[in-house]
Formats: sequence, C-alpha cells, structure tokens
Amino acid sequence: MQFHSGMISLVVPAFNEEENLSVLVHRLMAVMNQYNSYEILIVDDGSSDQTRHVLRQLSGMYPVVRFISFSRNFGHQMALRAGYDNALGDAVICLDADLQHPPELIPALIDKWREGYEVVYTVRKPDPKLSLFKRTTSKYFYKLLRHVSNLDIEDGAADFRLLDRKVVNTLKQFKENDLFLRGAISWVGFRQCRILYEPAARYAGRSKYSFRKMLHLAAMGITSFSTRPLYMSVLLGFGMFFLASLFGAEALYEHYFTNATVSGWTTLVLLMVLIGGAQFIMIGIIGVYLGKTFVEVKGRPAYIIGDTSDIEESVTVWQAPTQEVFYSPLT
Ligand code: UDP
Ligand code: MG
Repeated sequence: MQFHSGMISLVVPAFNEEENLSVLVHRLMAVMNQYNSYEILIVDDGSSDQTRHVLRQLSGMYPVVRFISFSRNFGHQMALRAGYDNALGDAVICLDADLQHPPELIPALIDKWREGYEVVYTVRKPDPKLSLFKRTTSKYFYKLLRHVSNLDIEDGAADFRLLDRKVVNTLKQFKENDLFLRGAISWVGFRQCRILYEPAARYAGRSKYSFRKMLHLAAMGITSFSTRPLYMSVLLGFGMFFLASLFGAEALYEHYFTNATVSGWTTLVLLMVLIGGAQFIMIGIIGVYLGKTFVEVKGRPAYIIGDTSDIEESVTVWQAPTQEVFYSPLT
C-alpha cells in the first residue's frame, strides 16, 4: 500500500467553460482534501471566453490548481493528451469540466487503484435524459468501432478514468499525432477495471462537442486502430468485379446469340454508376489513410501551449524578449 499513497493528478480539459470552472474546482477540492497530495491541472483548449482569465485567478488563489492554455482549439483528445504529458501525479484522473463526471466518484476510482488496478475506467449507465440522438449515435459508433478495430471498447466508455503512472508513461511514448485515447488505453493492456456511474447534467453552458467534432472523433477512432476498412474496400472491389463479370457475360451472350444488343443502355448506366460509386468509396478510404500518413510524416507538434500557470518558474530559464529590444532608440 505504501507504493500507492502517492500524488493524484486531476486533469480537466476545458473549452469555453468559464461558468463551470470555479464550481468544479471547489467541488474537486472538497472531495480531495482527504488526500494529502494532489493537483488539479486544467487544460484550456484555446477557449475564446474568459476561461483563461478564470484559470489565472484560480491558480493564483489555490496552489493546487495549475493550468495550461493552448494557442488555439486543438480538440478534447489533444487537451487530454497535454494533461497526461504534464501531470505530475502517480495516478492521473481525467474528467470533464462540466461536472457531468461526478467528482464524488473520484475516491472510488482511487480505491480501485490502491487495490492494484492500473487502469480504472468508467462506463456511464444508460441515461434517459441524454438526447435520443446522442444515445443512438454513441451506441452505433461503439458497435462499428468494435467491429472494425478489434478493440474491446464498451458502450458509453467515457474519458473519465484513472491511469497509473506506468500507463501514462506508456501513452507518452505514442508518437502519433492523431491519438484516439480510448482506443490506445484499451490497446496497451495492464490491469483494467471498470466502474459504472450515473452521469450528471451539464452544470452550465452548452455541449462543446459539435456534430462535426463527433464525426471527427468517430473517424479517428476507426482509422487509428485498424486498417480493416482498407481490406473491406478490397473485398467490395472483388464483389463489384464479380457482379460486373456477370453483366459482361450476359452482354456477350446477347451480342452473339440474340438480336437485342442495342437494348443494353440500362445495363451500361447501371454498371457505370455501380462501379464508379464503388471506386469513389475505395479511393476515399485510401485517401483517408494516405492523409493520415501525410500528417504524421510531417511530425508537427500535436498541440501548442500558449500560456501556463507554470510559467513563473520557467521564466528564469526562458526569458521572452521584451518590446524594448526591438524599439530601442538609435542613440
Ligand atoms: N472540450 C475540449 N475541447 C473541445 C470540445 C470539448 O476541451 O474542442 C472539453 C469540454 O470543455 C468538456 C469535455 O471536453 O470538459 C467534454 O465536452 P462536452 O461536455 O461539451 O461534451 P459532451 O459531454 O456533450 O459529450
Ligand atoms: Mg459534457
């Protein structure tokens, strides 16, 4: 048990969450004051509201609060990643800024970690309050994901989880830009255990996950962990080829053994449409993978930190040039 009495990091991605952060920090502190060492690391994902200002105030008031502010919106997954990269704890717990992930569940996660689990993930109970759209899309997304990627990811697995330092260090070694964390965490193994929870309602503001962002997450999940769609496109190609040969055989037959050869217009159009469509699909799938390769090959940083509460300590090492350097009068 000695080993597991270490420091806990709470990582919170926040995109335009100005109204939630203060309440969140207070609720987190209320839950965490039973532990002797913890930090709250909030990653501001390029918010355009007062989030950054609020974070400055909070980190000024409470030494346990640190923050990182991205130079622009890089997305939820990148914010989580920056959290894992910069958290200092022996266990790192991620949770949303909108209080949908109840802070009161945190001790249960920590207890499981102390029992020796290295990944404690949470699965939300089916929530009748959640919109039908979100429920259905999420259900089918996980179904498709399981089928296509060979990963065992449960319905409703959220980004509310505890990772042991070992797992965090493993994730830090992932070099890919477009990292789908839920997949990666299922993929790395370790001793995993799950906890069911009842999600709360969003405390303030609206969901920051636009439909576009959801689609992006889905596409990333599917293409990050598997090349199976490529094989499926090859299969589809074979299927099309088979059908086309049947048509071709029939056309030849009509040409040589009947007099009805000019009546092939419908067949021609059908063939063109079918084969053309299938080709577009396959080229599209190949394009997605090629695009991913292109992005990864460039090796750009996955996210850019524009501001952080840690800057005071590092300012002595990295002195930003002042304006005077550039505007000094020519005397
Ligand atoms: N979030 C983020 N960057 C984004 C979108 C969302 O950091 O581009 C954060 C957001 O502030 C919240 C968490 O990710 O803490 C989950 O987002 P949200 O609650 O809007 O998603 P939902 O619960 O509606 O799926
Ligand atoms: Mg939410």
